[in-house]
Amino acid sequence: MILVSACLLGQATRYDGRVLAVPSWLAQLPSNDVLALCPEVLGGLTVPRPPARIVDANPGREGLDVLAGRARVLTMEGLDVSAAFIAGAQAVLERALAAGVTRAYLKDRSPSCAHDPLGRNPRPGPAQGVLTALLLARGMEVVEVRV
Ligand code: SF4
Repeated sequence: MILVSACLLGQATRYDGRVLAVPSWLAQLPSNDVLALCPEVLGGLTVPRPPARIVDANPGREGLDVLAGRARVLTMEGLDVSAAFIAGAQAVLERALAAGVTRAYLKDRSPSCAHDPLGRNPRPGPAQGVLTALLLARGMEVVEVRV
């Protein structure tokens, strides 16, 4: 079973409600093999919602720092939504473990889903999302999908 960021499969889960085009290779995956989830929606956040960013984190380990309480996720208005991000990531982890997920394809540049440990993405954004950090800590493979 493969975990995929829900927005990569055309679900309207993004903060701005915009629907992304589905990469052809993802569209061809057998639906029975794919678990499509959005941690921010599972954490109780709405669509649309204010964009959020991780603050006070060490570059490259932003998600881990949020999980450890060393950093926070703030909306552009300054509202602390760290608890929702962590709860959503934990909800995804529980479902992924129950489904036997070993690999996740997650969207780039997201405070939940980003995974760019070598800093190769030329576009701005965190290197590690909160969900990514949680999945990696449980030994899952995470592959970033740039869109
Ligand atoms: S990038 Fe992750 S958190 Fe953001 S909309 Fe997609 S699945 Fe949800």
